[in-house]
Amino acid sequence: MSQLFRALPSVDRALDALANLPAVRGEDSLFSVPRAIVRDHVNGFLDVCREEIRGGLYELPEQLSLESLLPRMAAYVRAKSRPHFRRVLNGTGVVVHTNLGRSLLADTAVEAVREACAHYSNLEFDLATGERGSRYSHVERILCQVTGAEAGLVVNNNAAAVMLVLDTLCKGREVIVSRGQLVEIGGSFRIPEVMEKSGARLREVGATNRTHLRDYENAITEETAALLRVHTSNYRIVGFHKEVTLEEMVALGKQRGLPVLEDLGSGSFHDFSGMGMGDEPTVQQVVGAGPDVVTFSGDKVLGGPQAGIIVGRKAWIDRIKKNPMNRALRIDKMTLAALEATLRLYADPEKARREIPTLAMITASADELKVRAKKLAARVRRELGELCTVALHEGASRVGGGSFPERDLPTTLVRIMPVAASATELKQRLLDTHPPLVGRLEDNAFCLDPRTLTDAEFPLVCDALRQGMHK
Ligand SMILES: *Cc1c(COP(=O)(O)O)cnc(C)c1O
Repeated sequence: MSQLFRALPSVDRALDALANLPAVRGEDSLFSVPRAIVRDHVNGFLDVCREEIRGGLYELPEQLSLESLLPRMAAYVRAKSRPHFRRVLNGTGVVVHTNLGRSLLADTAVEAVREACAHYSNLEFDLATGERGSRYSHVERILCQVTGAEAGLVVNNNAAAVMLVLDTLCKGREVIVSRGQLVEIGGSFRIPEVMEKSGARLREVGATNRTHLRDYENAITEETAALLRVHTSNYRIVGFHKEVTLEEMVALGKQRGLPVLEDLGSGSFHDFSGMGMGDEPTVQQVVGAGPDVVTFSGDKVLGGPQAGIIVGRKAWIDRIKKNPMNRALRIDKMTLAALEATLRLYADPEKARREIPTLAMITASADELKVRAKKLAARVRRELGELCTVALHEGASRVGGGSFPERDLPTTLVRIMPVAASATELKQRLLDTHPPLVGRLEDNAFCLDPRTLTDAEFPLVCDALRQGMHK
């Protein structure tokens, strides 16, 4: 065994050999990865080999020569040297996929981010006076134009927006909210817990399935600071169910002198009602119904960067702007750049639908998707025909991001059944390819939905499938 240990190549010889390998398609050569990082992973690989020697995996010293080990070592070091946070291919058909980065930015938004972070900017500089300016002023006007609100401001994400609003308007006092709206928004974050962190006290009214206007009326005391509605964005209650409408709440708030707050979660500027997706109101419609403050996410159906958008009556927004907590929740310049570019696209609704990837993917027609599925299937057959069988299958995509729950979008899935592995094994192996490919299992086949893949990604999909099937 000691002979086997001695046969292992030295780290320096291994490093030189790796640096001389040609680059692999789509990846940087290991030559360009800092040597200290490669060294670390070579050591890790040699440790694996030592473990294997102890486990009796080798018999001859030749099996441990640099030449014999090099292909495996290169694959190991390449895999370990990749950045931890990296691109993946989303073949799931879930458009606003919370675990895969939610919304993709439009090209103009990506360009705006580049511009904002590669150069100095007027982030907090007033070009009219040459004095200090406010970062919040950049998007307020356009937000008001698009939504019809009097005033607005933007923070880090919508959870922060909700906290900031409650902290400003309701701290130490009560907020009345329906038991049917105490939602968990994923990652085990629960709206009631987020809200209580703000220091507001939740006064729950009604039952899970039914809440009446009188429930709110009866709960109002001098302790009450606001009436809150939370959009139940990620589930639907069907059957014996009643919620108080926003219009009724606004009337009650006016009558009792209380602000009405609406947490929309995934706010949409685009009207999807023509698509058979139910009657989710747009942000413009919600603002038009007259609540005092409305909060929503920048990176759900809006299709912009992660942000929490707060719009509403100027008097309340002015108070929210002055809350010191704002400083801890403020958005950075890259987000601001991406958000302004996204909002500008909405000035022309058809341009927004075409150019904002989230909207383009949600509104892609079944016919269009069928053509694209055929194209992907043909490519997979051409490149990998002997390794798998490929078929088309009618299926459904989802919007995701806790929006449009239980609403299916018709699509055509590409079903792939590998010859030498099960679909479950393939799905698992594809998480470790370059780039990783995330798909879904349906009826014992690995399925890809063209809705969330671009045509330009089809060659990468084939590369990943080849790597996954050859493992
Ligand atoms: C998603 C969601 C939030 C949180 O928004 P983030 O942008 O993820 O912070 C808050 N409220 C509701 C109703 C939501 O759906």
